[in-house]
Amino acid sequence: MSKNFAVIGNPIEQSRSPELHHAFAKKMGIELSYTKRLAPLDGFIANINDFFSQGGTGLNVTVPFKEQAFQQCTVLTSRAKIAKAVNTLWMENGQLHGDNTDGQGLVDAINGLNWKLENSRILIIGAGGATRGVIYPLIQAGVQEIVIVNRTLARAEQLVDDLKNAIPNIKLRAISLQDLTGNFDLVINATSASLTGDSLTLPDHLHFKYAYEMAYGKPSTFLDQAKIRDIPTSEGYGMLVGQAIESFSIWHGVRPNLKDFI
Ligand code: NDP
Repeated sequence: MSKNFAVIGNPIEQSRSPELHHAFAKKMGIELSYTKRLAPLDGFIANINDFFSQGGTGLNVTVPFKEQAFQQCTVLTSRAKIAKAVNTLWMENGQLHGDNTDGQGLVDAINGLNWKLENSRILIIGAGGATRGVIYPLIQAGVQEIVIVNRTLARAEQLVDDLKNAIPNIKLRAISLQDLTGNFDLVINATSASLTGDSLTLPDHLHFKYAYEMAYGKPSTFLDQAKIRDIPTSEGYGMLVGQAIESFSIWHGVRPNLKDFI
């Protein structure tokens, strides 16, 4: 009998998860159903309870429910505990399990581009949920040092404090936009600026070898400035596929190949 999966969020129409999971399933010879669930903003918990009580197997969680999903889980992976956000849910022995696959999705996408993460220095612009989710997987991938710059410095400082408590010996610090300078191997834009059509200005004295924009399918002033510097760039579709593959492998025990889907 085919198992039921879904992605839950609000809004949800834009989600590409169903097409990705159906494509993985076809490639791997697995039968499944994967739908979109629009949960009311005050109705997330009722909606997931309803899904699992009707025999649903796994859920992906997207904006704005990842933190609520984290709070509902009785069993969490270490990366989900550190991220304090969950994008993958499943029921096992009557307990709700949660994981966060966004960070591994980013790492796999960057590895797929053959950009070296080991011993690298990374600058992340933005200090929201996505940044929180990717730091531990980046450190596990061998990144040496991460600097976080954010429009609201206090938010970056809070994030750094939290993660320093959670990850021993991590080389992580927050800086203000005014102090943005220096040399980095990779700069990751983890702001939502391109989603809202805002521009992001990188100072001339900021030097880097690679540029990754987490958003995808939108004009990005961040990527425009990186391209002027004539360096390799990527937008976040690979990360999206990577996180979906990671969820798929948790649920099905088999891993589709990223290169087949980007
Ligand atoms: P959040 O809303 O949690 O955080 C947004 C961040 O962007 C904050 O740091 C905010 O700064 C900053 N920001 C917003 N507008 C501007 C601006 N005009 N100038 C400078 N900084 C700005 O969002 P998420 O962390 O969840 O998502 C961030 C991005 O990552 C989005 O584009 C999202 O689509 C993308 N993403 C992509 C994924 C993928 O699979 N490819 C997965 C997850 C996220 P401040 O604190 O000052 O408000």
